Amino acid sequence: MSEQAAPPGPAQTAPGPGGQASGGGGRAPALLVSACLVGVACTHRAEARTHPAVVALGESAVLIPVCPEVAGGLPTPRPAAERTADGRVRTADGRDLTDFYGRGAAHAVAVARAAGVTRAVLKARSPSCGSRQVYDGTHSGVLVAGEGVAAAALRAAGVAVVSEEELDDWGVGLPGEAARGASL
Ligand code: SF4
Repeated sequence: MSEQAAPPGPAQTAPGPGGQASGGGGRAPALLVSACLVGVACTHRAEARTHPAVVALGESAVLIPVCPEVAGGLPTPRPAAERTADGRVRTADGRDLTDFYGRGAAHAVAVARAAGVTRAVLKARSPSCGSRQVYDGTHSGVLVAGEGVAAAALRAAGVAVVSEEELDDWGVGLPGEAARGASL
């Protein structure tokens, strides 16, 4: 139930200094990704959200899967939670999970720093990983502009974050195109 479970497909070469893959003569960049996007069944429903274009990034980058909620100490499956207007993270029945989310965000930042990662592809609309929108905290399906806890922490640490729905922003939206994404 660890976020470190190996996802299918992506290269698993350990990153060297500066987020570059070592060995094999290549210097592929390291990229932090939401673990659920590359096949790890770590969502609150214990499902994966495998995204082929994110998996395909593993052809030219070293993907580093992280699930901030699992890393923060939450079980899988777990109750759905949302960021609330007061800056906390709560379940529908009012349980305050903010500390778990904070620990998970700190873990994601620590991994990014250790690997020298400067870019991340995180799951859209998650209370941890969402990068543009999150649910409004009322558990009624309403989206608002905002970030998940881990996405915000990574950005504060200098990591550029996009969702799986925004890969075109980097010119790496289609499988096989990653190698042409000079800015990756
Ligand atoms: S969106 Fe982020 S926190 Fe949620 S399951 Fe995926 S990796 Fe974990």
